[in-house]
Amino acid sequence: MPKTRETVLEIDLGALAHNYRYLRSKVPENVKMMGVVKAFAYGSEAGEVAHKLSELGIDYFAVAYTSEGIALREAGIKDPILVLHPQSVNFESIIEHCLELSIYSEFVLKEFIKSAEKLGIKEYPIHIKLNTGLNRLGFVEKELEMIFEALSNTKAIKIKGLFSHLAASEDWREREFTLGQIGKFRTMARLFMNALNYKPILHLCNTSGIINYPEASFDMVRSGIGLYGFTNDREIDKQLKPVGTLKTIISQIHPIEKGETIGYNRAYKAAGTMKTATLPIGHADGINRQYGNERAGVFVNGQFAPIIGNVCMDMLMIDITGITCDEGDEVIIFGGPQPATKFAEKGKTISYELITGISQRVKRVIKPE
Ligand SMILES: *Cc1c(COP(=O)(O)O)cnc(C)c1O
Repeated sequence: MPKTRETVLEIDLGALAHNYRYLRSKVPENVKMMGVVKAFAYGSEAGEVAHKLSELGIDYFAVAYTSEGIALREAGIKDPILVLHPQSVNFESIIEHCLELSIYSEFVLKEFIKSAEKLGIKEYPIHIKLNTGLNRLGFVEKELEMIFEALSNTKAIKIKGLFSHLAASEDWREREFTLGQIGKFRTMARLFMNALNYKPILHLCNTSGIINYPEASFDMVRSGIGLYGFTNDREIDKQLKPVGTLKTIISQIHPIEKGETIGYNRAYKAAGTMKTATLPIGHADGINRQYGNERAGVFVNGQFAPIIGNVCMDMLMIDITGITCDEGDEVIIFGGPQPATKFAEKGKTISYELITGISQRVKRVIKPE
């Protein structure tokens, strides 16, 4: 890629393909894979990422909200798409765009049956979400009879999938709890299979589940963060390639004298003669104030430069004392020498929050495989 001349998030489709193949190799051959492309494919570019994954042979997609599923259909994605967190106001557009949906409560179940019946739909594919301990969305075991009863009274829906979500698949200290979740999922799935005369697709594992609980792959796994190049395991991360690199440039360089201050609230005070650079990226782009005041830094021509003072809305300042660089030079915020996981840690957060938080103002540039 040529050097950038503005703030960009570079999306490396070769890295995506590499991660896809790696994760695929971790699950048995007959197990399907669902690519989780919610939140603009974890802050990257959902359409491009989904097309690439589709070309690589992924079986399914998942998004959080209906609008994200519609955007994928409008981008030309033909594969099945599961909307993980639909609201009843969106049921008609879900049906119109042939999106599958998660049914997680009695209210949503009954409302969806009503909508589907009103449109004269038969056997609309739904996925039942089971709560096995995350206590976020989903049915518990004692609600299953109610679901079976509702199913026996309608032809409008068909259970295409049964799924649940693990609360701590990345954490070995919670192994007992996770095994308990897997057990509960098995038990509830068995009750469904006894009540139905067909077998839905069972899916439980997220990325860390794929890595740590391969015995719980069931019929399909759902991977998000791993596709983008991260897990919650430093060693496994070495096998993956980060998809996103956030780059910017130096807008202006300032020689600073001892005692001068930098930025809003005069938060940084120069202890001696120094040199600062101003970068065209700020908290409105997703580099939050928590990274300022020397908690995190960036890379300029291969050298580390701390962020000094408060991060502004559209800019931030770095200390480039002793670094050979010029106005217009490229700066790497994360990716390359500094993985997003490492940058995120300095802001006391996790890669998920950092990468999904890069705002839509930042231009996305696609690097083909
Ligand atoms: C976001 C999400 C995933 C993806 O999890 P990763 O840890 O990013 O692999 C899987 N399943 C559900 C229900 C989710 O909400």
